[in-house]
Amino acid sequence: MSTRARQFDAVVRRREQLSAHLVRLTLGLDGFVSTGILDEWVGLVVPGQFQVRYYTVRSCAESELVLDVVVHEVGLVTEWASGDVVGDTVVVTEPKGSFALPDDAAWLMLVGDLTALPAMARIAETVDLPTRIWAQVADDLPDYLPAGADVTWLDDSVSLAEVVAGLDWPDGPGYFWMAGESADMRAIRKHLMRDRTLAASSYDVMGYWRHAAQRQPRAVDPGPIYRQGKAQGLSDEEIWAKYDEARS
Ligand SMILES: Cc1cc2nc3c(=O)[nH]c(=O)nc-3n(C[C@H](O)[C@H](O)[C@H](O)COP(=O)(O)OP(=O)(O)OC[C@H]3O[C@@H](n4cnc5c(N)ncnc54)[C@H](O)[C@@H]3O)c2cc1C
Repeated sequence: MSTRARQFDAVVRRREQLSAHLVRLTLGLDGFVSTGILDEWVGLVVPGQFQVRYYTVRSCAESELVLDVVVHEVGLVTEWASGDVVGDTVVVTEPKGSFALPDDAAWLMLVGDLTALPAMARIAETVDLPTRIWAQVADDLPDYLPAGADVTWLDDSVSLAEVVAGLDWPDGPGYFWMAGESADMRAIRKHLMRDRTLAASSYDVMGYWRHAAQRQPRAVDPGPIYRQGKAQGLSDEEIWAKYDEARS
């Protein structure tokens, strides 16, 4: 079976600077169908490049897709998205997602950095459960998460590993979702598995980007790894661990 993802040509219709490091791109495209999975992502190939980077679908309609892109110090998409990109044609791959809320979940906890904020916003505005969010975000984005969400904004004086180690876990079944820098996420996944002995179906921890001295030489598509892992009956944790391995 081919693991090649379907691709769409999309044109950048709008570019909005939401904060110092977050840019909203609205793309026009035909035939895009959401998976409905709340942390779904697409691959993005920007003009003149062939390498893919992955972005969460912040929202979408039949002919429009909204991606919120972090512009950090240096990077292939970062440099492109920092300029005047309206009218540019990009390639977008078909969406995939991994957020899997158990039927009996009675609460939700979301933790992440700025790259995780689009997914946390979409999840929080859609799931009707008591939800707590810890967002490690240096930018001022007070209205980005839904009004009424129980949000703790964190600066980088504390590590996300420390935040997770200090969490006060609600009683009963629930779901924990988290994304951020890959090495940090690997350590946190181990902590949840070994120290907290959480059932694999009750949490999802994803490495969204890697600290590296230079631009990443290649990006690894999480889609085929996710599909193969599911076909093999692996848990999301095992699949994301495989994804981390493939990128290291
Ligand atoms: C499933 C999934 C969903 C994602 N969703 C989003 C999203 O909605 N919005 C979003 O902005 N990102 C998201 N990401 C993360 C994004 O794909 C990476 O940050 C990507 O590396 C950015 O590409 P770039 O071309 O700008 O930088 P690259 O060319 O990949 O990297 C250049 C340099 O920048 C560093 N770097 C990469 N990302 C960051 C960062 N975030 N902060 C600081 N330094 C960094 C690298 O270590 C490297 O040294 C997601 C990733 C995955 C796997």
